[in-house]
Amino acid sequence: MNLKKMKQMFSESLHPKGQCCFCGETIDNKSLVVMNLDLGDDQFQSLYSHGLCLKEKLHSSVPFLAPEELAGE
Ligand SMILES: [Zn+2]
Repeated sequence: MNLKKMKQMFSESLHPKGQCCFCGETIDNKSLVVMNLDLGDDQFQSLYSHGLCLKEKLHSSVPFLAPEELAGE
């Protein structure tokens, strides 16, 4: 087993599958983006989305590389 595969397995174990907050579909690990929001008063919320769904919502002036776009590396 090579190092890249081990790193992938490790990150998959840290990121459970979730539902995309934009399209409502289940997210596979390769396209998962986790957004940790600080709501103030020690309140936090995590949102999950596809990288490409988030990118679609962002203004074109905001630099963002979705994991789907990095997958080819
Ligand atoms: Zn989505």
